[in-house]
Amino acid sequence: MKPVIALVGRPNVGKSTLFNRLTRSRDALVADLPGLTRDRHYGEGRVGERPFLVIDTGGFEPVAKEGIVKEMALQTKQAVAEADVVVFIVDGRQGLTPHDKTITDFLRKSGRKVMLVVNKAEGMKYTSVVADFYELGMGDPYVISAAHGDGVHDLVQEALDTAFAQRPEDAEELEPAERGIKIAIVGRPNVGKSTLVNTLIGEQRVIAFDMPGTTRDSIEVPFERDGKHYTLIDTAGIRRRGKVFEAIEKFSVVKTLQSVSEAHVVILLLDAQQDISEQDAHIAGFILESGRALVVAVNKWDGLESSDRDEIKIDLDRKLDFLSFAKTHFISALKATGIGPLMKSVDSAYAAATADLSTPRLTRALIEAVEKQEPKRKGSTRPKMRYAHQGGQNPPIIVIHGNSLEAITEPYKRYLEKHFRDTFNLVGTPLRIELRTGKNPFARTQK
Ligand code: GDP
Ligand code: GDP
Repeated sequence: MKPVIALVGRPNVGKSTLFNRLTRSRDALVADLPGLTRDRHYGEGRVGERPFLVIDTGGFEPVAKEGIVKEMALQTKQAVAEADVVVFIVDGRQGLTPHDKTITDFLRKSGRKVMLVVNKAEGMKYTSVVADFYELGMGDPYVISAAHGDGVHDLVQEALDTAFAQRPEDAEELEPAERGIKIAIVGRPNVGKSTLVNTLIGEQRVIAFDMPGTTRDSIEVPFERDGKHYTLIDTAGIRRRGKVFEAIEKFSVVKTLQSVSEAHVVILLLDAQQDISEQDAHIAGFILESGRALVVAVNKWDGLESSDRDEIKIDLDRKLDFLSFAKTHFISALKATGIGPLMKSVDSAYAAATADLSTPRLTRALIEAVEKQEPKRKGSTRPKMRYAHQGGQNPPIIVIHGNSLEAITEPYKRYLEKHFRDTFNLVGTPLRIELRTGKNPFARTQK
């Protein structure tokens, strides 16, 4: 499981600056799609081969004189409760403030591992920058400049080492062997996740594999359906509740992100008897950002008037049109209707996400696409696409090689994507097209 780092501190110390620096690499993955709301308080980062989740507790506003801890936004509390490591940021230019002390008290009570970080330290002397902050009793502070990047890499390395050190030994080995397609069922509270889990697992004996972590439990539940093996990940409803913070909200972004990132295929559950909400769109955004294969299931389809049903379909197209690559099913988890086709789509989404696309087949499809419709000229240059190869799986990445490809427009890229999707039946998975301009390695040098 990916370690979780929470960034905590009073406003203006540089949390979002650090957050952006840590998650920057992910931004390239998802273009700005219309209708896609992304909650920029959660992101994924990577140092070398080590991925991690980072939470920016941007919502934290200490409320005037009294009761800062009481007033602390629930979100911040939850972030701290769910973090492996808390990066507590203070402002090196401003020095120690009373709010910093209050936050320190809160963090100490949380029992979390805390790293004290002094930001905005570029061009300042270590000893003078840190002097103020020893008073907090949190040991030697780390000194960084989030804006310039100084010290950030070391800080993250250290945070990840700390996170792993807290995990039970051999935590990696405790992970059970692969059991078919791993599925995460995600959605906001009350959409019917637990009901769907129960319907899928049915009468089968539930063997829950507990992975006790210090802060979270991940449970994997293998089950069989029509002779096929699947594993449900971190399922709602059969999970034990954390003991640390009882008041945690029922819905957890961190747990959603964790289970999404461990899954092969995500089932996004929506509630037909409620409007599609901002929260649904947020969750959809996370899934899209993860690049995971996806099936959308609109639950509680039972007992709806047909006019309601039409309305829901229109609403869906309007609000979640950026998920159009995924199949949508209308189901009733309670009455167990539509489950068979839903699982068929899970299978095909997995197959699409992990498809092997050979260079000759891809190149043939590319040539076909260009023959049907050539890319437009840009000024005097016409982009020339030569061949395509697969650059990755899950999600599939198709790399197109040629010349002057920078002249290819977004609409034409989408046209290519659609052509590849149709040709290789890539339903249920995001698909990335990358353009690489360069010398044709197959071309002979001619004099
Ligand atoms: P947040 O409210 O804690 O999320 O803080 P922000 O990330 O929004 O930063 C607040 C201000 O501090 C902005 O004007 C940033 O440009 C500035 N800032 C952030 N990091 C640094 C840094 O490392 N050095 C300096 N000099 N300014 C910084
Ligand atoms: P969760 O919070 O997402 O795990 O949702 P639950 O599985 O606990 O379901 C919330 C409520 O919705 C419960 O009262 C369920 O009985 C009800 N529910 C779940 N699935 C369906 C369904 O397909 N149809 C109807 N009518 N109600 C459902």
